[in-house]
Amino acid sequence: MKTKYWDFLENYNIDEIKYGLDDKQSDRMIKKIASENHKGIHMNLLNLPHADVIFTNCRDRYKRYRGLTYTLLFFLIIAAAFITYIIRNSGTIDISRYVVTISIVFILSVFFEFPLLIYSVYKTRRILFDYLKDIIFYGPGILDLPVPGHLKDIIIPLGKGNERTVTGEVICSCASNEMRLIVNAPPNCDSFPVKELKIVTYLSATCINCNKEYLIFDKNIHGWKGFINLEKTEGERSFAFVECPKCRCLSHSLYITVCSSGKEYFINESFLQKDDDTPLSGNDWVNAFSNFMAYAVCSNCGWNFPVVDSQTD
Ligand SMILES: [Zn+2]
Ligand SMILES: [Zn+2]
Repeated sequence: MKTKYWDFLENYNIDEIKYGLDDKQSDRMIKKIASENHKGIHMNLLNLPHADVIFTNCRDRYKRYRGLTYTLLFFLIIAAAFITYIIRNSGTIDISRYVVTISIVFILSVFFEFPLLIYSVYKTRRILFDYLKDIIFYGPGILDLPVPGHLKDIIIPLGKGNERTVTGEVICSCASNEMRLIVNAPPNCDSFPVKELKIVTYLSATCINCNKEYLIFDKNIHGWKGFINLEKTEGERSFAFVECPKCRCLSHSLYITVCSSGKEYFINESFLQKDDDTPLSGNDWVNAFSNFMAYAVCSNCGWNFPVVDSQTD
């Protein structure tokens, strides 16, 4: 899947950069893309689920150098203390000599630390650049996340994710994340959260900024049972607004987690057709997810609470 942040790539001829230029020219073009779209790329890198390994790698490297720097600084301070001790024992305390000693210590520490830091920053930048190059060339193709088709334009994946699970925030096409949520609720229940989370089989979100409405989850049509088995869990339902249990606010940001058994399992088990013999394509695996969870974060007080937790296979 491709998040909206990658839209800027459409302004460049990626195929030409990839195949038509020599390595140096191609690197130059990637750097140009990177500098012209710094903000979008930064957002993307933070949101890429498969960025995990590379960032862990970079972070570890950074921590290692930071550790080294602190150790070095520690020894330099000990040395400074020792020198001061010697000066003090050798007669009267000479403030100017003391100041000179401390200055030398700091100059030395800077002298030792800088090459280390520059080196680690350079290395880290190189890794990130190669990674970015990879993403720009192959980006959308290598994101194999179980984001259902009806959500792919409004979910921004967060942190971790793989073929089996993805968590993302729901963002409206107007870029707002504040939603008014509606779930099915027992009759005569005008507000949610209900005590029994299990009864929630429907969730829709309406953008507070632009009023656009999104169907986020409906067990009757989504997930393995709804999508492949065409199983209707229930007929008539009544609905209620989701309100914050703490402050009763009706505006929330919404996060969802989808779990899947993976593409291969889907192809083997579904025989690429629905129960009514409608044919399916391999790409439909994302719609036959096995679990759907959602939680809301109150826009007013920040309280977060689950809204849906539904097994769908
Ligand atoms: Zn909106
Ligand atoms: Zn609240």
